[in-house]
Amino acid sequence: AIQISHLSKSFTTQPVLNDVSLHIRHGEFVAVLGPSGCGKTTLLRTIAGFEPVNSGSITVGDRLFSSPDIHVAPEKRDLGIVFQNYALWPHMSVEENVAYSLKVAGMDRNERRTRTKDALALVGLADYATRRPSDLSGGQRQRVALARCLVTRPGVVLLDEPLANLDVHLRATMEEEFSRFHQHTGATLLYITHDQQEAMAIADRVVVMNEGKVMQFATPQTLYREPANEMVATFIDDGR
Ligand code: ATP
Repeated sequence: AIQISHLSKSFTTQPVLNDVSLHIRHGEFVAVLGPSGCGKTTLLRTIAGFEPVNSGSITVGDRLFSSPDIHVAPEKRDLGIVFQNYALWPHMSVEENVAYSLKVAGMDRNERRTRTKDALALVGLADYATRRPSDLSGGQRQRVALARCLVTRPGVVLLDEPLANLDVHLRATMEEEFSRFHQHTGATLLYITHDQQEAMAIADRVVVMNEGKVMQFATPQTLYREPANEMVATFIDDGR
């Protein structure tokens, strides 16, 4: 479970996250939705440990990751992360990029191969294993970043618009793959999107944010039927 309690974060005087509290259950698929600039990326960056918090706390499982006094380094949080700047190693092939963290973890060669192959097949890049990132399109690079995250089989995965650069057809395929991945692994997924339909289609529950605050955290059905306020009602309706 991810427990976020009274989290606030500001870069200047204006808070970007303003008293955000969320309890995300173990194994839940949660989408984060809201207008541009509402604080979605900042929320994920603080959970990932790229930003310190001003007040409140972030706990994952039984580990306190962030509070005004405590800051666990991002690499010690054991989270799967797919962010928009999906930097790959330019001097490594696609499969080397994906397998790198497994190698660092000391996994044996055969297991590494199998897992890397599976991860690349999952994102539809089985035929691109020996290519260099520079030979791929932006969308393909994004899928390599996704494979690189999934190959470690993280218990919690943070995704910032993972399908943003993909065409409509591939988006649909990848949405199904996310659902399958989620069902197979039981991982907890926190997934930013600006696409209401996507959020409603794939998530167990959706966080609707506005101006740094959580407007509502509920199932898609509840958001449709019982929006907490005018903003939620309008925002959800705009996506239809
Ligand atoms: P989008 O959907 O456009 O990606 P978002 O909901 O992810 O937006 P954030 O990227 O979290 O929003 O940004 C929220 C606000 O915080 C914005 O007003 C942004 O300008 C500000 N902000 C984000 N990062 C910084 C930073 N490092 N320094 C100063 N302000 C920042």
